[in-house]
Amino acid sequence: MTTPTIELKPSAHPLAAAEREAILTSPGFGRSFTDHMVTIKWTEGRGWHDGQLVPYAPIPLDPATNVLHYAQEIFEGLKAYRQPDGTVATFRPEQNALRFQRSAHRLGMPELPVETFLEACDALIAQDIDWVPAHGGEESLYLRPFMIGTEVGLGVKPSNEYLFLVIASPAGAYFPGGVKPVSIWVSEERVRAVPGGMGDAKTGGNYAASLLAQAEAAARGCDQVCYLDAVEHEWVEELGGMNLFFVYGNKIVTPTLTGSILEGVTRDSLLAVARDLGYEAEEGRISLDQWQRDTENGTLTEVFACGTAAVITPVGTVKRSGAEWRQSDGEPGEVTLRLREALLDIQRGKSEDRHGWMHRIG
Ligand SMILES: *Cc1c(COP(=O)(O)O)cnc(C)c1O
Repeated sequence: MTTPTIELKPSAHPLAAAEREAILTSPGFGRSFTDHMVTIKWTEGRGWHDGQLVPYAPIPLDPATNVLHYAQEIFEGLKAYRQPDGTVATFRPEQNALRFQRSAHRLGMPELPVETFLEACDALIAQDIDWVPAHGGEESLYLRPFMIGTEVGLGVKPSNEYLFLVIASPAGAYFPGGVKPVSIWVSEERVRAVPGGMGDAKTGGNYAASLLAQAEAAARGCDQVCYLDAVEHEWVEELGGMNLFFVYGNKIVTPTLTGSILEGVTRDSLLAVARDLGYEAEEGRISLDQWQRDTENGTLTEVFACGTAAVITPVGTVKRSGAEWRQSDGEPGEVTLRLREALLDIQRGKSEDRHGWMHRIG
């Protein structure tokens, strides 16, 4: 099957520069979208075809389209950063392409070739390059590749046709007023993902499963939910959309991938960056009771969450049924901040890319 080349059909009326600049002064997250999007079709027998870069626009769907009923949907999230020399680079996009293939496999969808995934992202960034914020701060252009089942009909089976898209949205600094710890509600009742389920696939269904617990956390005054394993309700897994790290002095530990934890690119990168900085970094099992006990006895010095959107977020207050505690006095920890700066410096091109993680556009 041939790899599609993307046909460029740019907009005759992109947003005026002054309006774009106004958005870029305070973009927030996922609120505004660039002038264009990429679409590629897949149909049974024909494979991937009809790759196009077109003006950003609604996509008409028949009311009986597969994705609207049976949720055959997967997505990715990655960022493009302006480099000191004015060029633009994405961070480890081939890791997102490979995870997109694993997610597709899990949901019975066709796998997009890695080169096509990269070509689609690069084409959109190149076209909308003026939407990539200036070098210096934490601002970036967030890319959202995704794929939906587009067969029309209510029969339950994998769709026989799919649409892959990439859209892009300028993203501001996650903490505009300085890094601020989040509060966590640990759900000992609701679970995000189960063994043999699709917790290690990046699919909207996992997010749908998390929204009620998220609302319950908000009602308890917490920002995020931490999920435990679905069998023993004891082992810490992750937040709704971020992986977790536990700092024991000079050692950082993140829960071992069990199949119900999403394998974050940030998680993997931090294991390497931590070792580069001389910390010990490992995967392991951490129970909720151990989390509480080790905080109380002072051996667990910091906890943080990580993912593409926020890079690293310190954890402040933690609440579980009948107990509550604070990590590092509710302040961002020293190791947390050091790892955050080190990773951001690689992404922004401020420090040497010793692992070859940055992918230059053009
Ligand atoms: C995307 C995601 C993460 C973070 O992955 P990154 O590749 O680091 O952005 C963590 N957990 C879940 C459930 C996710 O969907």
